[in-house]
Amino acid sequence: MRIKLLSGLLLAGAIGLALHAHAEPAHMHVEPAHAGRAACTGEAPTPTVVLATRGGARYGTMQYAGGEALGPKEIALTFDDGPDPKTTERVLDILDRHCIKATFFMVGWYAKARPDLVREVAARGHTIGTHSWLHPNNLRHLPLKDAKREIARGFAAVEEALAAAPPEDQARLAPFFRFPGLNDSAPLMKWLAARNIATVSCEFGADDWLRISAAEVKRRALANIDQLGRGILILHDTKPHTADMLPDLIVALRKRGYRFVQLVPESDARTLAANAPDPLLGNPRTVQ
Ligand SMILES: [Zn+2]
Repeated sequence: MRIKLLSGLLLAGAIGLALHAHAEPAHMHVEPAHAGRAACTGEAPTPTVVLATRGGARYGTMQYAGGEALGPKEIALTFDDGPDPKTTERVLDILDRHCIKATFFMVGWYAKARPDLVREVAARGHTIGTHSWLHPNNLRHLPLKDAKREIARGFAAVEEALAAAPPEDQARLAPFFRFPGLNDSAPLMKWLAARNIATVSCEFGADDWLRISAAEVKRRALANIDQLGRGILILHDTKPHTADMLPDLIVALRKRGYRFVQLVPESDARTLAANAPDPLLGNPRTVQ
């Protein structure tokens, strides 16, 4: 599974960020495009799971032994590669209707292009992590200096987008980093650790970067989740078929007894990251 997902993410990266391929949804209940913010009714607010970030913690057992973050039957939804002008708001509306807070790992370039969407994600109460500046598929293939700059610019772009937001929304940006293609490297993780940035991988994906139907994305998500019974799920808010299947996936998971949780950093995590040498959070103007 790990090899399959990693190679798939590799492929998705190779195809390029601009490609938002999707298959037609089959037999899915598709919610209307951007129906707007909906009141959360019938479900309790999403409980939070606090991730320590000090010293560069790592989460997600697909890559990191001992990286369990969640308890039995707990699922954290995470969305990579946005914000996307076509689908991010649809995803936000669905999450609102189903009373779920998630985590969005944003690409800096897209955050710079649509700072309003970054602020919208924060205003809806979701956690924001970052996912590099331009999403190079494998940071290991860049000179270390350039790779560090990729990561730093990603944080800076999101932070700058949030600069115009209320303080509570600015605080939604967590010291969480997800490597593009999940292709981490020891020197970069050491560098992140010195800045108290946590690396957040996953327990499973749903192959939603492939040209498969929405129903198939849902089927694979459920199959992967049922194998482990808990974990962090990677989806992409750049994919229309992901938004198409999301309501059905949420309903199916709740029927199976799963509970959604939101990943959040410790209360002092931002201060820790901002006080690090050459901080990645809290002082974006130091980033060259
Ligand atoms: Zn990605």
